[in-house]
Amino acid sequence: MQRKSSNGRSELVFLPLGGAGEIGMNLNCYGYGPPDERAWIVVDCGVLFGRETSTPGVDLMMPDIRFLENVRQDLLGIVLTHGHEDHIGAVAHLWPKLRCPVYATPFTVQLVQHKLEEAGLESRLRVTPVPLGGKITLGPFSIEFISITHSIPEPNCLAIRTPAGTVLHTGDWKLDPDPQLGPVTNEPVLRGLGHEGVLAMVCDSTNVLVSGESGSEGEVKRALIGLIASLKGRVAVTAFASNVARLESIAEAARLANREVVLVGRAMRHMINSAREAGYLSDFPNTVDEEYAPEIPAENVLFLCTGSQGERRAALWRIAADEHPNVSLGEGDNVIFSSRIIPGNELEIFELQNRLAAKGVCVLTERDHFVHVSGHPARDELAAMYSWVKPKISVPVHGELRHLQEHARFARELQVPKAVVATNGQMLRLAPGDPEIIDETPSGRLHLDGRVLVHEEDGFARGRRSLSFAGFVGITLVLDRRRRLAAEPVFYMEGVPAAVEEMMRSAVSRALKEKSRGDLEEHVRIAARRAASDAWGKKPVVRVKLVEI
Ligand SMILES: [Zn+2]
Ligand SMILES: [Zn+2]
Repeated sequence: MQRKSSNGRSELVFLPLGGAGEIGMNLNCYGYGPPDERAWIVVDCGVLFGRETSTPGVDLMMPDIRFLENVRQDLLGIVLTHGHEDHIGAVAHLWPKLRCPVYATPFTVQLVQHKLEEAGLESRLRVTPVPLGGKITLGPFSIEFISITHSIPEPNCLAIRTPAGTVLHTGDWKLDPDPQLGPVTNEPVLRGLGHEGVLAMVCDSTNVLVSGESGSEGEVKRALIGLIASLKGRVAVTAFASNVARLESIAEAARLANREVVLVGRAMRHMINSAREAGYLSDFPNTVDEEYAPEIPAENVLFLCTGSQGERRAALWRIAADEHPNVSLGEGDNVIFSSRIIPGNELEIFELQNRLAAKGVCVLTERDHFVHVSGHPARDELAAMYSWVKPKISVPVHGELRHLQEHARFARELQVPKAVVATNGQMLRLAPGDPEIIDETPSGRLHLDGRVLVHEEDGFARGRRSLSFAGFVGITLVLDRRRRLAAEPVFYMEGVPAAVEEMMRSAVSRALKEKSRGDLEEHVRIAARRAASDAWGKKPVVRVKLVEI
């Protein structure tokens, strides 16, 4: 795209590099100044988890930040809204390419600092803590943290004031009147911003397709107390470890039902420790160590487990597979999934639930019991937020394209004068003048493949996918000095039926006899692949190696 000229005047621009047009790995950039000397800040720096089927062998995916590397000298800082992986998970991986200050509220600092320690970066980067409701100034950006509610301690909206106007970056949010942990949404400050005048609101789109309200943690707590009190046998509850308020509700329900809490899974213990260090969970009961679990009578125990998404390495899967050293469940026991199904995880979760059911365990989920509420705003909450903030421009983020487009339509319905969808890599000018996409920057994904960070296009996931579908054939041809076959071709096959080898052998010897054979390796490769396809209906990955003697 041709860059539109600004005649050297200062502009305020918004550029999403992740999370706009996909779920996960949020990374948003704001720039202010004339095009060639803009100052930049980044809001959030998250990851998306790799999938066995589409990206085999890839643990994490994160945004391609080539653009930011190029403007690194003018990058003033990374500001984190809250501690979910899709907002902070890439800091430890991408920060070495950017090396700028990072700011967050104390609980988020705890979580990021732990990741930096794991990456051996703690001596190079100390995340700067900002108190709840605090303000920081980075060049032309004056940033105010505004408390809101979500599904993790300390979610923040950011009011970003610039000489060209104020942007409210909502981060992830909902309006929970009874969040159980932390303050309620700071509605007066948000309404105040509306009076002051807001140029643009960059807003969470996750649940724009959901009508009504998301519901409150307080209601879930009351429901869990009733449900857990009614259950006989052992009770295990799985929830997102980062939903600390939920963990506290579950522990309270356990206490009232005369059950001791056993934490099962590393992430669960880590999150509870982090929350305690940040000053939360002072009333959380003392928990029992896993090793002592077998000694507690069935009706007096509650296991709080990781693994609500069917993750194979997490506690609940290992329990279901009878592989857990200390915890086992069987006939008459119960597992409550106090969580939702993250799209894409359905098969794993249903397999886990079937394994539990096969053992005689009663599986309770949000489909049959009120055991979960979302952390994102449904339509009535979005409408309330727009009525308070009254932005001139709505910029939907944090969603797939269908969410962003519906959010833009909804914002127009709510009388927001302009609503613009900008997807990853599209630079949106917010001011001066009408909002407009003025540039396209490189975007895409980086794959963390083992310990190696590679661009998705240079990565190995695609190759591995073909291997998993149709296997591999290696053919070694030994040629003499006159390039005649000096021995029988050597075949090496992985994941290919043996019967296919005969067909490929005949095709290769026919190909070798043909007169004009040009690039011999390629000629043999194509012949072998075609033969496999005729015999088997599938085209394996074929590699041919010539050895001349
Ligand atoms: Zn979140
Ligand atoms: Zn998020």
